[in-house]
Amino acid sequence: MNQTLLDLHDLYRVDFEMDALKAEAAALAEAVRTQQARNAEMDAAAVALDAAIQAARHAEGLLARKVDDYVQKRDRTRALIDEGRAPDFALAQHQLESLIALADDNETLLLEQMERREKLEADRETLKARRYEGNLRLENARSKQGTRRAEISERYGALKPVQAERAAAVPAHTRSRYNDLRTKGVTPVVDLIDGVCESCHMEAPPQALVDVSGGADRLHNCRGCGAFLYEARETPPPEDEDGD
Ligand SMILES: [Zn+2]
Repeated sequence: MNQTLLDLHDLYRVDFEMDALKAEAAALAEAVRTQQARNAEMDAAAVALDAAIQAARHAEGLLARKVDDYVQKRDRTRALIDEGRAPDFALAQHQLESLIALADDNETLLLEQMERREKLEADRETLKARRYEGNLRLENARSKQGTRRAEISERYGALKPVQAERAAAVPAHTRSRYNDLRTKGVTPVVDLIDGVCESCHMEAPPQALVDVSGGADRLHNCRGCGAFLYEARETPPPEDEDGD
């Protein structure tokens, strides 16, 4: 097989691993950031809910005092009428009816207000449970990151000189093409599977397929994505081809 192709493949394997390590480190950091943001959102919601509960309790207290007031007046008026002490019976009767209605209406309002307050308090409890869970999740994300960060950084550090060495082994022109592919987000080294590029599924010309299958010295690139063609295989393996 072409030596440049072998070198390219070696370079790609180390780049692939380094990319995966970088992506893993980024994902671990992102998991921590995401949970921090969620927790902060919940904290803001808790502050708003606490304020709403306080306002609801205040409104409830005012209504309760109003109800007490009307109930006392109602009962006093009723006693005056019952005991025949009302100076003007018709007026007292009219006042009693109006006080009964006011006491009832305000009692209804009070019950509605209590329901609203209870609903807010239930929401607050739910939020408290979710926030507690959020803390556990954040701790979990942080500990995962803490455990893996050192390993990732150690492995990455060990790969760096290997990568430099392998990159230096590839001729400048080929390396530049390889780097262009990677910059574009294209998998730079691919296999032909049943004569088709494993990355973009473009069919290889017959001569390319023959060369790649036979390990000929000539380098070929996929006509679709431009990737360097490494090996030709008949059936896809169950795991990834870098499984070593
Ligand atoms: Zn392709």
